[in-house]
Amino acid sequence: MRTEKSINEELEKALEHYRSNAQNLAGKSLAASNKQVRDLRRELSDAISSGAKACPKCKNPPVGMRRGDVALYGTVQSVYEIGCAVCIPVVKGNTRTSVSSVGTDAASAVKNWNVEAHSTDGKIDQV
Ligand SMILES: [Zn+2]
Repeated sequence: MRTEKSINEELEKALEHYRSNAQNLAGKSLAASNKQVRDLRRELSDAISSGAKACPKCKNPPVGMRRGDVALYGTVQSVYEIGCAVCIPVVKGNTRTSVSSVGTDAASAVKNWNVEAHSTDGKIDQV
């Protein structure tokens, strides 16, 4: 399996090709460019979620993504998320719990996912 960095580099090139040529590409060429981007995004998700168990609720394979960086106590931390694209969050009272887990790297997000340490989005107002 390729590394996240390697896949991202190819994905950036594929996205640039798609963005630069989308208005000029026709039919099969546009579809091929679109498919290349889609396949690379899938490969990236698979690389990030490598080792993650199936969703405990629906048994579908989870998706993995790098959410970005956050500033935290004077440092910058990456945020990775492993989650189910099918299951909706569970709301109990005013707390919403996603069927997803986060970590500061892919491995820690997978570890949290595998023990079902799912993220609580925070308190929400009752309607
Ligand atoms: Zn699910």
